[in-house]
Amino acid sequence: MDFLDALTTFFFPANCLHCEERLPKAELFLCPGCSSALPWLEASSRCPRCFLESCSCSTFTGPLSRRLAVFSHFGPAFSLVQHFKFAGREEMASVMASLMLVQLEKAGMPWPDYIVPVPHAPWHALLRGYHPTDLIARALAKRMHVKVAKVLKRHWTSLPQHSKTKGQRILTPQPMFSLRGASLMADRTILLIDDVTTTGETLQQCSRVLQQSFPSSIYACTLTLVE
Ligand SMILES: [Zn+2]
Ligand SMILES: [Zn+2]
Repeated sequence: MDFLDALTTFFFPANCLHCEERLPKAELFLCPGCSSALPWLEASSRCPRCFLESCSCSTFTGPLSRRLAVFSHFGPAFSLVQHFKFAGREEMASVMASLMLVQLEKAGMPWPDYIVPVPHAPWHALLRGYHPTDLIARALAKRMHVKVAKVLKRHWTSLPQHSKTKGQRILTPQPMFSLRGASLMADRTILLIDDVTTTGETLQQCSRVLQQSFPSSIYACTLTLVE
């Protein structure tokens, strides 16, 4: 392998992150087949508020006005998120942010004043050297010409949602977040972002905490949705 090959391999991973087929150089993370099989969620066929096909707004309580996701949490989308979260693919943040922006525009979401990333456990950044949602927030804020507000603090005792059973997530909704600053976002529109929506409880908890800074509205977007 010469220097050029090494450099190309670094910037263009050799294999598709989903099917592991060799990638053509023009494709960044997925082969053409897996890219076309990405399970996009069609905003027009979903409830504009809870974003489910069968509306469940009766259980969608709290100050979050709307939420949406880009993909369903399976297939090539699942592989993308897993690699991004757990395998040091921080350079994927830019692509993830672009995908989110496409979905936000398709769904006609309001332009935010601030993007707030859901904080993950500090051990993640210590182990991986990066913070997935911070990276997406920064990349998205750059595209939208708005500011990132890292105003949420996650309590160090809380476990990430994916380490709990579904029953635990629903039955033990403990307070996990608090606000870092006060009144920073009074009368502003907040876009809350995270990588995956499972039960939606994390987004609701974050929105309740953000409500303490008196924003005019809070809506949320995640890369994938578990249904
Ligand atoms: Zn593939
Ligand atoms: Zn609904």
